[in-house]
Amino acid sequence: MLSIYDSDKVELFCRKNGIYDHALKRFRNAFFKRALPLDECLGMLTEAGRAKFVEHVGLPQLVLAERHDSQLDGASKLIFVTGNRERVEAVILRIASGRTSLCISSQIGCSADCAFCATGGMGLTRNLTTGELLDQVVLARRLLAEEGRQLRNVVIMGMGEPFHNEQAVCGALEVLRDVRCFCFSERHLLVSTAGVPAAMVRFVERFPDIRLALSLHAARPEVRTRLMPIGGAQALDKLRAVLPALAQHGNFMVEYLLLQGVNDGPDDLAALIEYLRGQPVHLNLIQFNPFPNSPFRPVTSEAREAFAHALRRAGFKVTLRRSLGADIAAACGQLAGTKSINKENAI
Ligand code: SF4
Repeated sequence: MLSIYDSDKVELFCRKNGIYDHALKRFRNAFFKRALPLDECLGMLTEAGRAKFVEHVGLPQLVLAERHDSQLDGASKLIFVTGNRERVEAVILRIASGRTSLCISSQIGCSADCAFCATGGMGLTRNLTTGELLDQVVLARRLLAEEGRQLRNVVIMGMGEPFHNEQAVCGALEVLRDVRCFCFSERHLLVSTAGVPAAMVRFVERFPDIRLALSLHAARPEVRTRLMPIGGAQALDKLRAVLPALAQHGNFMVEYLLLQGVNDGPDDLAALIEYLRGQPVHLNLIQFNPFPNSPFRPVTSEAREAFAHALRRAGFKVTLRRSLGADIAAACGQLAGTKSINKENAI
């Protein structure tokens, strides 16, 4: 079976089977860009062409099982299921400015085991395929099209460490930017990583215009290792060695999740400034969203402002990120694939 996302092979198949280029173009426009229901997309092909297409080209495998809409803000958590009833979570973020973003998952679970993250507690079940990454975009885009909204940004920041599934993630990015398919502007695509140095360097070389975010969250080795065991005790040194190669790309940013009494003190601030000294990086300070049994607490907004102010005085560009969807366990670090299926939310 061909993948609908493999454009070269689909084109070859269509040519061999008498499906004209203009019909395939109409199908793609309906499927990828207008996000029409599948029946309407297939209606762009002739009856004979449609039968062959459906028989030989694999269409989305994921199925939307649940949708949870925030009562606080414009977030919706989407839960998709695979053929084996595995759960894959994505989050739509409707930002007040009218822009809409989608956060998708790259793995089911995660082996990185970050202490502040609900997904980290699940362990890794498996990597998602390129098709499963892209199915999340197709299905979310269809929901948004029904609302009359356009999807502007796709961020790979849901469940999983993207660079532990590098091949599938890079394959998905190729399709997301392909003008024959989704045709997203590269500036509107973002990958967020806990830090896999060699893969990050490969990434900026292959995708210099796609945004990359490093979740640093601590610059003191003992704190970083406790919060983020990925990379072991030498992780900060290894990341520091590749920072110049990453920072020369204007699309690179460093994220710092502020945790009360853990990484928000004067020593932490001094270590962070020293660690990033001389690197023209953009820092994003993130608020923590507590989840059940989490030992961590968010800092106050005053403390966050003061931390940001000190970093700005040290010469860094700093933004403060507010997470959406805290009431539906859809905010950063809250995706865990465990929320029970409510009948009223089932689709
Ligand atoms: S923060 Fe990201 S990398 Fe860390 S455990 Fe959670 S999903 Fe994995």
